[in-house]
Amino acid sequence: MIKQKELPYPLDALEPYYNRETLDIHYNILYKGYIDNTNKTEEKLAKARETNHFENIKCLEKDLSFFGSGVILHELFFYNMGPAIPTSPDNELMEQIQKDFGSYDSFKQQFTESSKVVEASGWNLLVWVPDFHKLEILQCEKHQNLTLWGCIPLLVLDMWEHSYFLQYKTKRPEYINAFWNIVNWNEVNKRYKQIKK
Ligand code: MN
Repeated sequence: MIKQKELPYPLDALEPYYNRETLDIHYNILYKGYIDNTNKTEEKLAKARETNHFENIKCLEKDLSFFGSGVILHELFFYNMGPAIPTSPDNELMEQIQKDFGSYDSFKQQFTESSKVVEASGWNLLVWVPDFHKLEILQCEKHQNLTLWGCIPLLVLDMWEHSYFLQYKTKRPEYINAFWNIVNWNEVNKRYKQIKK
């Protein structure tokens, strides 16, 4: 059984960039739904093995990928945001960003532009790709499609409409610009350090 991770700040901590109502629904209802559905899927998989009934195996494994990835990305999203206190990539991460994107501004520009064009429901991600030994930016469809195998997400932005529509309506660029004010780079730095160990 996986459990809902605690929200590391109060529900109104990201105001005015990410309002209380949106965060409340996003964390307490939608994210919780992914936890519950992942657990239910695991139970169904266990039952299928116990009873040797694998008729629904295709559907169940797809559900595991969808709901489970939804859990993982939402946890990263809630943790890589924080109150609007200025933070920045530390020296180690900044060097890698400069190496792989040319400059911090180029990275930010690419991340912003690719967030704008995520198709339908999906995410935008800064990831570390161990096989390439470099940082990349990837768009993701739903929660699980378009990955590079083995990549480790460092910074993620939820581009599903449920993540911004209540506050920003159709103004995706405003939501993305607001996001930069509440990125908690301390958390991203910590993650990068852990994966480089
Ligand atoms: Mn979401």
